[in-house]
Amino acid sequence: MYDNDISDVVAADKAHVWHHLTQHKPFETSDPRVIVEGKGIHVWDAKGTRYLDAVSGGVWTVNVGYGRESIADAVREQLVKLNYFAGSAGSIPGALFSEKLIEKMPGLSRVYYCNSGSEANEKAFKMVRQIAHKRYGGKKTKILFRERDYHGTTIAALSACGQPERHMQYGPLTPGFVEVPHCLEYRKQWDVENYGERAADAIEEVILREGPDTVGAICLEPVTAGGGVIVPPKGYWERVQEICKKYDVLLHIDEVVCGVGRTGTWFGYQHYGIKPDFVTMAKGVASGYAAIACCVTTEEVFNLFKDDAEDPLNYFRDISTFGGCTAGPAAALENLAIIEREGLLENTTAMGDYCLEKLEELKDKHAVVGDVRGKGLFLGTELVADRGTKEPVAEKLAQKVVAECGAQGVMIGVTNRSLPGFNNTLCLSPALIATKDNIDEIVGAIDVALTRVFG
Ligand code: PMP
Repeated sequence: MYDNDISDVVAADKAHVWHHLTQHKPFETSDPRVIVEGKGIHVWDAKGTRYLDAVSGGVWTVNVGYGRESIADAVREQLVKLNYFAGSAGSIPGALFSEKLIEKMPGLSRVYYCNSGSEANEKAFKMVRQIAHKRYGGKKTKILFRERDYHGTTIAALSACGQPERHMQYGPLTPGFVEVPHCLEYRKQWDVENYGERAADAIEEVILREGPDTVGAICLEPVTAGGGVIVPPKGYWERVQEICKKYDVLLHIDEVVCGVGRTGTWFGYQHYGIKPDFVTMAKGVASGYAAIACCVTTEEVFNLFKDDAEDPLNYFRDISTFGGCTAGPAAALENLAIIEREGLLENTTAMGDYCLEKLEELKDKHAVVGDVRGKGLFLGTELVADRGTKEPVAEKLAQKVVAECGAQGVMIGVTNRSLPGFNNTLCLSPALIATKDNIDEIVGAIDVALTRVFG
């Protein structure tokens, strides 16, 4: 498609592109890995080296794997017919995808389209705020979020972010967002038997402290992703749901990472039998074949914006230019069809369980492995310098493990590495098509890397 020499591409990139999450000084003199092709679970760099991608495109996105011609065909067909049109009349793939999606989400009924996870979360925040103004005279505007959760990069989404290193130097943040404690049992904050319920009770304590008449919603990840792959303990979610009901607090589940199969169910919240008022999603919705994100809500919430139609303020006064792109829902429709056709939810559960077993074996073998945890094909391995004190390993050592895996042709990730006291958790999230052989190769590479770095 392009006939440029790769060194020209790198030169153009270094001259003009400002990369995400990158300190550019060392980057200027580095020899960056340029990924140019993907097929299935593998990618190739410009030098022809093949990697097993255990992070689905770096940030848990390419759920159905690379090189899916049926998605490319669906998008192409739609683009040449109609690429874009904004407004209230909708689009054919937008309508059809929303119908299919809602079939997978009993109790929910309306899909609001936008472009990124951050934006989907902002839509829910705006709906909560507007409800507070319409229904509660401007009270109940506060939104709770949990320590270690992440909800996006825009200023309001960042204000709902429980990882302080993300918002340092970006203040002043948006007021009205209040933190509740994390629920990672490995790093206990309460010495009790039923840890899940205790951690959820901490939410009630915050609601009571702030005043129940001021709290409109709580936004939570089903399994915390970038904050260290935290699977809430037994009893947590049931109690959260009770608390939300008791204080009339809307429950917003951020499925930007867990959504569309990652944890072995269509959505992470579906493991726990809870009934959210908002579900936001992005990455896996079209597996990165097109940009699409959604904020999904109930008919009850939707109806609140429909009553009093004579009032000029009484509708959701929000638009996303590229929410009108048709490539997103066209790709998303085929992405869902692939997951169904190929039984990828079942595969995710089976391979996730297998991977967890293999990681447990690593824990028996390497003292540096403090904890392993996960759900479906979303797994974490927390590294500690000392199992007794749970002191995290140095960030550069965790990075070295990632590099040593890369040297063996396996790409893995690491979360939460920049502040002392925060954990260093190796992160695995391969495409949902992963096989036992792939899992063996991934865990085998980590095994070798841990030996090389820690002995
Ligand atoms: N929520 C969660 C849980 C995420 O992990 C992310 C991104 N990593 C976002 C929201 C923001 O998504 P985006 O980068 O598409 O804005």
